[in-house]
Amino acid sequence: MTFTHDQALFEKTPYLLTPGPLSTSVATKNAMQQDWGSWDSDFNTITADIRRQLLSMAGDDDDAFVCVPMQGSGTFAVEATLASITDSTKPTLVLSNGAYGKRAAQILSYLGRPVQVLDKGDYLPPLPEEVDAWLTAHPEIATVVLIHCETSSGILNPLEAIADVVALHGKRFIVDAMSSFGAVPINVQRIQLDALVSSANKCIEGVPGFGFVIIHREVLKTSENRSHSLSLDLHAQWSYMERTGQWRFTPPTHTVMAFHQALAQHQAEGGVAGRLARYTQNRDVLVEGMRQRGFQTLLDDAWLSPIITTFFSPRDPNFAFARFYAALKARGFIIYPGKLTEVESFRIGHIGQVDSNVMNALLVAIDESLNEMDVTDTRPPQAAYSMGELA
Ligand SMILES: *Cc1c(COP(=O)(O)O)cnc(C)c1O
Repeated sequence: MTFTHDQALFEKTPYLLTPGPLSTSVATKNAMQQDWGSWDSDFNTITADIRRQLLSMAGDDDDAFVCVPMQGSGTFAVEATLASITDSTKPTLVLSNGAYGKRAAQILSYLGRPVQVLDKGDYLPPLPEEVDAWLTAHPEIATVVLIHCETSSGILNPLEAIADVVALHGKRFIVDAMSSFGAVPINVQRIQLDALVSSANKCIEGVPGFGFVIIHREVLKTSENRSHSLSLDLHAQWSYMERTGQWRFTPPTHTVMAFHQALAQHQAEGGVAGRLARYTQNRDVLVEGMRQRGFQTLLDDAWLSPIITTFFSPRDPNFAFARFYAALKARGFIIYPGKLTEVESFRIGHIGQVDSNVMNALLVAIDESLNEMDVTDTRPPQAAYSMGELA
């Protein structure tokens, strides 16, 4: 465990119980104290090391994949990937069950690329047999996009089973692993995929500023001149970086240094397995504590991710999210509003530099906040019971 609770820092800045940006370590913040030249070989050595470490984290032992970092937030890297490797005439199927699936489909529409959406609404998982049936009915599809952890509900979609179906149909497979990579194992030797996308400020616990794509070398090689965009051209970014060791345009230098430090901590914690263990414990302490208090999770246990959990808001008429948020913030915790259309909910992230002590402290703060608001009935709103069965 490399997690160390820093009381002095905690008193100054609240814990971010949000799925990125999230709470980072003091060492990661300190790594941003120096200025770096983007052309300098010391900086470029760091970039190369980051790319190597990310490939190794993805289990790319036979050098079949490359890692291409891309400036901007995670969406920039998703857009760069979709623009660079989807087909302009054959449709892409987006498996959508939340905001990030919707966003992937919207990006494809912006690009004028044909898109089909298997829409499961806000919180139901796309099932392998549904994907199989869709691909059988639509042989014209060239590419499938899956959101691994749909952060808008916290659901962990069945990546491996869907990857098998997509491979069976011989389609290209793109995975938005933004909020899962680094904490949920994804091994490109075992799971057949063409590209996965993630970013600096999620489970690797860096600060915002760039995303990265782990992409099959042969797939990327065929994507020259396919992007609509100069700055988001993944192939151009890659070939320039291969040639010069540099980012094609100004890199977020401080973010890159922070990320390099965050990677060292990731390794010291035991890599993906170590991080998964801590995040899982965070979730278990939180969910158990909340259930003891009468709260209910949106999802059945089988679909809960170790990343973020959605809870129904209490039906008590004294409950108001804005007041709850403010009361928790005053006690040092920033939570996240819910994204369900039908029923009031809120989300609590359990990633970043937080451990089960922080989760227990949060539970105490929740008790105090509910008391302050005079909320006693924490059962979900009646409407939550008619939301349909989870598969
Ligand atoms: C965070 C996230 C993104 C990217 O969002 P940005 O705000 O652009 O960083 C994309 N997909 C998922 C599933 C995410 O959690």
